[in-house]
Amino acid sequence: MTRKDFLQLGLAGGGAAALGTLEVLARTLDNSDTVMPAYFIGHGSPMNAIEDNRHSEEWKHIKTGTEAPRMILCVSAHWLTRGTYITSNVTPPTIHDFGGFPQALFDVQYPAPGSPELAKEVASEIYSVQAQLTEDWGLDHGTWSVLKHIRPQADIPVLQLSIDYKEPASFHYALGRELAKLRRKGVLIIGSGNMVHNLRMVAWDHTAEQDYGYDWALQMNETFNEKLLNRDFDALVNYQQWGEAARNAIPTPDHYYPMLYTLGLVEKDDELALFNNSVIMGSLSMTSFSLTQKF
Ligand code: ZN
Repeated sequence: MTRKDFLQLGLAGGGAAALGTLEVLARTLDNSDTVMPAYFIGHGSPMNAIEDNRHSEEWKHIKTGTEAPRMILCVSAHWLTRGTYITSNVTPPTIHDFGGFPQALFDVQYPAPGSPELAKEVASEIYSVQAQLTEDWGLDHGTWSVLKHIRPQADIPVLQLSIDYKEPASFHYALGRELAKLRRKGVLIIGSGNMVHNLRMVAWDHTAEQDYGYDWALQMNETFNEKLLNRDFDALVNYQQWGEAARNAIPTPDHYYPMLYTLGLVEKDDELALFNNSVIMGSLSMTSFSLTQKF
């Protein structure tokens, strides 16, 4: 049944009063045929929120589907918890979770609405754990620094899903798989982190260079890309097997885990495409990927 047929059926049977409800139902039906794109985004420095550079320029071109998503769900490297939480604030605050940056960055607001109802809907799709709703978080810079470019209007409800930091990589990949069905319900899902992320080893004397990576960082970036494009997801979940290079690239897994959520969203018909493929400042990769189907 097409959306038009459905609406005509509704008008014949129930009249115009029921049109509002029918519109919502029709949209749900439409969305069941449409698979929303999904992304992993290497977010890098919070300054990317207010800078126009080659990375943020790519974010401006990110597609959010032919129809606007019903909501955007972000898994940010900057929300680590014990247990799995979903933001349920009606008005999620813009959290400036950093120090030592210019006032202009602290002045940034991303006033997207939240939604307790949508938070409940996301929680109801998760079976392996009891996801809790909370108003004790909002939108951290892993979310708003990229959305500021992707959806500057801030007009779509944005929710965050926390990372249960006591759980292993396999847990996060499996939870991503559970979320995959939301893509057919009009939900745009974004994992936001950095696959190679070692702040302790940043080459501060090379920050101005376009691409500067230590050998191990370049090697791990290549390895990640190869495994992604070959869809060897087991290898990406079991990243610790790569020895010293992986230990340098992922000294702590907070910025790696968001990628595993996006990996869990991959469907057979998805095209997986890399973008912002680069290593900067010696020990950070901005490499990102999209999952898209023909729509
Ligand atoms: Zn970060």
